[in-house]
Amino acid sequence: MNFLTPEQEMWRDTVNRFVDEEIGREYIRKCDIDRAYPYEAYDKVAKAGWLGILFSEENGGLGGDIMDYALMCEGLAKYGFDFATSLMVATFTAMNIEKFGTQEQKDQYIEPFLNGDIRFSISISEPSAGSDAASTRTRAKRDGDDWIVNGQKLWCSGAAADNVVLAMLTRTDPDAAKHKGLSTFLIPSNTKGLDIRKLPTMARRATGTTEIFVDDVRVPHSSMLGGEGQGWPIICDHLELERVAVAAAYTGNAQMAVDDALRYAHEREQFDQPIFDFQVIKHLLADMQTQVDAARLLTYRAASMAAAKQPCMREVSMAKLFASETLQTVTRNGMQILGGHSMLPDSDMERYFREGMQSTIGGGTSQIQRTLIARTMRPS
Ligand SMILES: Cc1cc2nc3c(=O)[nH]c(=O)nc-3n(C[C@H](O)[C@H](O)[C@H](O)COP(=O)(O)OP(=O)(O)OC[C@H]3O[C@@H](n4cnc5c(N)ncnc54)[C@H](O)[C@@H]3O)c2cc1C
Repeated sequence: MNFLTPEQEMWRDTVNRFVDEEIGREYIRKCDIDRAYPYEAYDKVAKAGWLGILFSEENGGLGGDIMDYALMCEGLAKYGFDFATSLMVATFTAMNIEKFGTQEQKDQYIEPFLNGDIRFSISISEPSAGSDAASTRTRAKRDGDDWIVNGQKLWCSGAAADNVVLAMLTRTDPDAAKHKGLSTFLIPSNTKGLDIRKLPTMARRATGTTEIFVDDVRVPHSSMLGGEGQGWPIICDHLELERVAVAAAYTGNAQMAVDDALRYAHEREQFDQPIFDFQVIKHLLADMQTQVDAARLLTYRAASMAAAKQPCMREVSMAKLFASETLQTVTRNGMQILGGHSMLPDSDMERYFREGMQSTIGGGTSQIQRTLIARTMRPS
């Protein structure tokens, strides 16, 4: 049974072909080894017009829906989740701007974003604000027509690249209730007082994730996204899109882990036979593909519900939870099937495995997803 329309099938094939012909697995591997941001590939995606897939046609986009976006993320991530991240994190804030931005912000940012001239990073987390993301301490104080921001941010992905604008969650009213005293600012990464340092993380080596020291950063009031005190609903607004996107990308990467392991199992011979012929390896691969198919089905369900604008918080969390844990499981099994060769960068499996290890943490941990799912469950 095929769940995709012919147009969706065609779109999925187009993205897959593009990644193979225009980007390639060697490029993505090299960016990971060199910890180098994938500028050339990012530009190619921008030139193809795909950064605008979710934007309305009146704002210069393609007018696609979240299902189209999910199919794109699945394809872009096939040789590594990290590469897809560089594009995904930029899109989430761009969509926030289309929905909540002032006309001035839209004029300033949308076209340069669609052309690939600027990109966005989301800066929510702090040293003491992880899963409890609203416990923001970074403080913005009003000073005439400006705000002065001080504090420290952590894990802001893609922020060390060129021409980045940060969407930074700050506390503007310490007397308001926890989730109500927050506001989001759009802050160019070269603003005086920002010190952005790329971290030597195990995963996400190319897109990079960062710590940011925020020291007397002066920003105009016009850089506030949405109203004062609207920081939390704005940040939460993109969570559905983010979790569908990452679930799709984990699925794409997990499928490649299975494909690579399957090919290796047929090529590698021990005891005068391909290791695929050992039943234990066959069964492992069968389990891996079954898990990836299940992750894909959960993701397509969540994406199609989101596209139809149906309430789907539970389905989105299920997709994120299952797809991330699938990426982790199938890449661990892939490491076992590739044996010693799995340890080398040119196996690609060790890169997929590292991405799997971060996938159950970033974007809301597995524990938080389970809590969200359980919250929707009622005894009959
Ligand atoms: C590679 C990577 C990229 C990231 N990129 C970004 C980014 O671009 N922007 C950004 O703002 N943030 C980013 N993050 C941060 C990410 O959102 C947080 O790491 C995540 O929300 C978890 O927070 P924490 O790491 O502080 O863990 P903690 O919240 O300290 O959690 C530690 C452990 O305790 C568990 N735990 C915490 N609270 C509960 C609870 N209520 N119930 C049960 N268990 C709980 C967690 O599940 C986890 O196992 C990124 C993280 C990673 C790893």
